[in-house]
Amino acid sequence: MTLHKADVLIIGGGSIGLNCAYYLLKSGRKATVVDSNEVAQGSSAGNAGHIVPSHIIPLAVPGIVPTALKWMLDPKNSPFGMKVSLDPKYISWLLQFVMACNESNVQRAIPPLNSLGQLSAKNFAQLIAEEKFDCHYQEKGLLFLYKTEDAFAGGKHEADLMRKHGIPVDVLDKPALHDREPAARDEVLGGVHFTGDSHLNPALFLKLLADRVRSMGAEIFENTPVTGFDVADGNIRAVKTGAGDFEADQIVLAAGAWTPAVAHDLRLNIPVQSARGYSLTMSATKVMPRHALLLGERRVAVSPMGDVLRFTGRLELSNVDTTVNAKHIAGIERAVREYIHVDEKLDIRETWAGLRPTTPDGMPIIGRSPRYRNLIVATGHAMLGLSLGPGTGQVVTELVNDRETTFDLSPLRVERF
Ligand SMILES: Cc1cc2nc3c(=O)[nH]c(=O)nc-3n(C[C@H](O)[C@H](O)[C@H](O)COP(=O)(O)OP(=O)(O)OC[C@H]3O[C@@H](n4cnc5c(N)ncnc54)[C@H](O)[C@@H]3O)c2cc1C
Repeated sequence: MTLHKADVLIIGGGSIGLNCAYYLLKSGRKATVVDSNEVAQGSSAGNAGHIVPSHIIPLAVPGIVPTALKWMLDPKNSPFGMKVSLDPKYISWLLQFVMACNESNVQRAIPPLNSLGQLSAKNFAQLIAEEKFDCHYQEKGLLFLYKTEDAFAGGKHEADLMRKHGIPVDVLDKPALHDREPAARDEVLGGVHFTGDSHLNPALFLKLLADRVRSMGAEIFENTPVTGFDVADGNIRAVKTGAGDFEADQIVLAAGAWTPAVAHDLRLNIPVQSARGYSLTMSATKVMPRHALLLGERRVAVSPMGDVLRFTGRLELSNVDTTVNAKHIAGIERAVREYIHVDEKLDIRETWAGLRPTTPDGMPIIGRSPRYRNLIVATGHAMLGLSLGPGTGQVVTELVNDRETTFDLSPLRVERF
């Protein structure tokens, strides 16, 4: 049997794993990445590409449960769905989620989400400029569009809250909104523009990042699923894969929605449920939106990426496969047509489904394992795994190197559940 020796072994080569590899290599460490498939794919390639330091409110907020149940009464258009299952881990996750839908959880989540979001946004700008990545990176903000007075009022309320936390935001009445985004249909009556946000083509960015970490000396093992672990005396002695065993000084577990399955033998409590979403990518339309958009009432994202346009949406809890459901792709397209001008016939190039790794309190899990001294967990980034990648890469590197972290990671620690 082959035995590989590694300095830092990263399990999972999606947005989180590749960013960890990049910042580790920059700090002088050696990085090895193992992935069960190809790297730079996972759930990270087909997403909306929004880099959103403005997203400081977790998924678990007061009122979200009744709203989600109301959405489900209209299955054709609902942005939310959930699997019915008696799996005890799923039921426990749902209960923890419901318990976390309160104001004190929101207040607990804002500081780490804000710090990680700001750090990541700064790192994205620096990394893309330094490495000269051509990935359609645009610092034009994220523009929410609203069609109803009620939803616009909610948007303005959120804008006030964000402003208090230092997030730059413009509230736009109808004329100002149409002036800023000519692709909006007349039915759109207002908008909220988070001007510090940005967007890019995630597949291009991650492909360039994977190439860069290879050229910096990372060893990447693709089609190499982790199948188990050898543990002794509070350490992981070896990580078992189809390509042999890996011994490493430190191990970073960044397997996204698959993390609980990968970590099964380690008997760690990592309450991550997958939340499937979809995207459709088409050739540029005649009227391309100027900005990355979020369609307020319908929760659909729109991303112009150079010569392509992408729509993404839907959150289906506990669906673990990446089958594309044509009915929901059609629902996403229908929603977009309500808000912006798009060609009557779209030249769709790709439809895609990905799994968001979702925690019950809406915060990622980043920290050293309480059970194994040489294991760091970095997962649970839910709808923000692209956005929070470079910040996560930096703080994981600080943990590996036993340095003080850029901000307090204790709210994100593994043992909080
Ligand atoms: C429709 C949609 C839109 C989204 N839009 C955005 C957005 O605009 N902005 C944003 O920030 N986020 C967005 N997200 C969320 C984002 O895509 C995820 O949070 C992110 O992809 C998670 O990255 P990750 O590296 O943790 O996981 P992944 O990218 O899924 O990577 C995990 C890796 O682990 C590997 N793996 C699995 N099992 C094993 C094993 N046994 N051994 C070894 N490797 C294994 C997988 O092959 C995979 O490559 C969106 C998600 C969806 C679904």
